[in-house]
Amino acid sequence: MALSGLDIFKLLPKTNCGDCGVPTCMAFAMKIAQKKIELSSCPHASEEAKAALGAAGEPPIRLLKIGPGKALEVGGETVLFRHEKTFFHPPGIGLELRTSQTEDSLKAAIQQWESFEIERVGEFLKGDLFFVSHDSPAKPAFLKTIALVRANSKKGMIIDCPDEDALMSGLELLRNDRPAILLRRPVTDKDVGMAKAAGASLIVSGTSLEDLAGQTERARQAGLTDIILSLPVAGLGEAVQNNTILRRSALKKNFRPFGYPILARVRSDDGFESLAEAAVLLCKYASIIVLPRFDKALLYALFTLRQNIYTDPQKPIQVDPKVYAIGEPTPVSPVFVTTNFSLTYFMVSGEIENSGTSAHLVVCDTEGQSVLTAWAAGKFVPEKIAKFIKDIKLEDKVETRKLVIPGFVAQISGELEEKLPGWEIIVGCQDAADIPSFVKSVKLA
Ligand code: SF4
Repeated sequence: MALSGLDIFKLLPKTNCGDCGVPTCMAFAMKIAQKKIELSSCPHASEEAKAALGAAGEPPIRLLKIGPGKALEVGGETVLFRHEKTFFHPPGIGLELRTSQTEDSLKAAIQQWESFEIERVGEFLKGDLFFVSHDSPAKPAFLKTIALVRANSKKGMIIDCPDEDALMSGLELLRNDRPAILLRRPVTDKDVGMAKAAGASLIVSGTSLEDLAGQTERARQAGLTDIILSLPVAGLGEAVQNNTILRRSALKKNFRPFGYPILARVRSDDGFESLAEAAVLLCKYASIIVLPRFDKALLYALFTLRQNIYTDPQKPIQVDPKVYAIGEPTPVSPVFVTTNFSLTYFMVSGEIENSGTSAHLVVCDTEGQSVLTAWAAGKFVPEKIAKFIKDIKLEDKVETRKLVIPGFVAQISGELEEKLPGWEIIVGCQDAADIPSFVKSVKLA
């Protein structure tokens, strides 16, 4: 039976030392009950607590790290559908490198993957991993590929190497780098020992759901905790079905052998088909998605989808409330005001830039709500806007005394003018796209 936060609290040291990263033992207990943190994060938990909590102290999907330094985290999910709470850890996107590739083509692929980055609503989106497939008969080719990646990137690595001798040498090169090893045969105690010694995660493959459960159970019994699931199948439909069974069994039935992140590989080489495959796998529970080749168009779409699905639906993406300089404004440049909903900010700032005008953009704290929503919620109203403008001492920074408000809240102009003596309130356009023509038609400074 699931333990309540209070039951768990009774088993904790109750010293509120904060060493677990949570301020109090009670808050820590609540997080365990919600499966957001593991008991192992408390260095002072007694053996009695560990024994009593057992599985209750672990999240239903294990959170694990791949890669050196600020590693990629995958797993740690607690819900089947995003609207139930949120998804926590976006799937890592990996690029496959084959050891049969020439050195030049490997270098080019690493460089391409390393440098590709897009900015969207204030976040920088990029690839996370390399997947090294050893498909050459020569051991040196495998070691050279690993060394090339390590010399040119700090991203994590998954290695798929059927040659045991080459694998051991490769792991030596990746000491302290937390790689993941793909195992294509039944797991043995020796494999578990190798993964533990290398500080690596083991990707356990099954030929069926039953076989996979047996494999992970064997690895667990041998003392391995960092496990990733792999269940290769021929078709996408079957992959989605299996992934759903894996995730549902872990979350709803607390079936421990399936409580791990899932590896998925995109097989198609056709642009549209591979995007469709990757998108479906991203939506249906893959924790790591490996692409067979670099495709900029596919990545734009995939990163956007990943960002949309893995943002918290209860927390709008926000920018910091403050005055932003758009272009190179002077004290007499125009002043615009808007809300701190990220999308609103980027649309408004982008269109001011497009207009060729430099301006001050005052971004008020509306807890990430857009203009009309914030107005309806009483967060973007004259009193709050005027207070914010006074708090940031805008009058000391600009000589302009004209303030452009969004056209959607034209009704607040009179009251805002009363609350900001000396300022003229100008009602701007409703759509950000009209800012360039608005700027040309109105004298703003
Ligand atoms: Fe309590 Fe342990 Fe966290 Fe300290 S580290 S606050 S004892 S739960």
